[in-house]
Amino acid sequence: MAESLDIANEMEKIPELQHRNFRNDEFWKQVPAWSNVSREEFADSKWQLKNSIRKLDQMNKVLGKRVSKEFMADIEAGLKLTPMNIRITPYIFALIDWDNPADDPLRKQFLPLGSQFIADHPFYREDSLSEDVDSPVETLTHRYADKVLFLPTTICPVYCLYCTRSRIIGGSTDTVEKDTYGVNPKKWDAVFEYLMNHPKVEDVVISGGDAYMLTPAQIRTIGENLLRIPHIRRIRLATKGIAIFPQKILTDDAWVNAVLDIVKLGRSYGKQVVIHTHFSSPLEITKWSQMAMDRLFQEGVYVRNQAVMQNGVNNKVNQMVLLTRQLSFINIQPYYVYVHDMVPGCEHFRTTLREAVELEKAVRGTTAGFNTPTFVCDLPGGGGKRHVASYEYYDEENGISLWQAPYVKPGEVFMYYDPIHKLSPEAQKRWQSAKERENMVIEAKRKAGF
Ligand code: SF4
Repeated sequence: MAESLDIANEMEKIPELQHRNFRNDEFWKQVPAWSNVSREEFADSKWQLKNSIRKLDQMNKVLGKRVSKEFMADIEAGLKLTPMNIRITPYIFALIDWDNPADDPLRKQFLPLGSQFIADHPFYREDSLSEDVDSPVETLTHRYADKVLFLPTTICPVYCLYCTRSRIIGGSTDTVEKDTYGVNPKKWDAVFEYLMNHPKVEDVVISGGDAYMLTPAQIRTIGENLLRIPHIRRIRLATKGIAIFPQKILTDDAWVNAVLDIVKLGRSYGKQVVIHTHFSSPLEITKWSQMAMDRLFQEGVYVRNQAVMQNGVNNKVNQMVLLTRQLSFINIQPYYVYVHDMVPGCEHFRTTLREAVELEKAVRGTTAGFNTPTFVCDLPGGGGKRHVASYEYYDEENGISLWQAPYVKPGEVFMYYDPIHKLSPEAQKRWQSAKERENMVIEAKRKAGF
């Protein structure tokens, strides 16, 4: 049986009002190169961009002797294994606990350690969610009848090691050749035309990549073109920005004004324009996040959060409850928590489906229902998001779950697999044999009645 959560013990670790305390110290001064950086400089979005860490030698320079040579060598080894490049804002870089970076949940999300990688699951997929299969025109995925996903850029202000679109985001690495990089406005007209000709579509998610990397002019072009289409009723701008670079909301007025103008234009048409952001750890939330959200809230911008469940980052009850309460406190609706997709280079991040079900049970009831995230599994193969407890069958011993998506892909059966390293030693052994794997899947399908 896969390992599960000790809920009662974890619940005791949640101080009732901890979610109202936001870090407001000059935490960046723990990084040797930034020990003299003033609060004003640190608040400047241009300073944050200019000092983002993108290379190992830059990291060496800013940290000096703060970390050991062995740790840096481990990162170098990680870069040879991960499908993602390094990109991390000073804000997040400085929030890492540099006294113990190996165990730090923020370091884990953005800086790879070679020693923490484990082999990919045999059934992983580069495009786990089959976004490319359901793509009628380049940069657009159309799976649900009334909703599309538009990817106008392939760059982000940070690169998350667990990214589900590691096949296209952030440029080539030692392990993945990517033929796209950056913003691609020449492809957008085909997207607008497709949407104009598909009157069932009401909802557009603008993701990527990250909307933070679009210029104000590009935000306006996309927003105005989409809002002009009569049947488009809802636009969601997806950005991890508020979580990892709140200074942009506070000091990049041109970008914020472009977003506000699109929100107002939408409202004038009776249409919604909202932001979907992506906090995964309570350690990402500080006074800066609260100030950024205060500005957006006062301007009438609605923000929802989508977190990704990650081993050692947020898969404990106290971490997830704190995250949920803090987000609610700063006026972000905790909307989704995703079970980790089965993409390459992420096996060490993945959790079992059982952990997700138990975590959902533990979080439910700790705050109001509308602020309780829905825990979902985005089905490999393109079945869409399903509630984690809505599987048709779950063989926990071998970590195999079977699902259906009756409206999205009627009649199809989808499979999700738990990470092998979390299964019993006997089950781990079975997974080593290709024949046994096939038998386990056949048996699971038989038991499920498929
Ligand atoms: S911000 Fe989103 S798209 Fe960009 S690397 Fe992170 S998960 Fe991927």
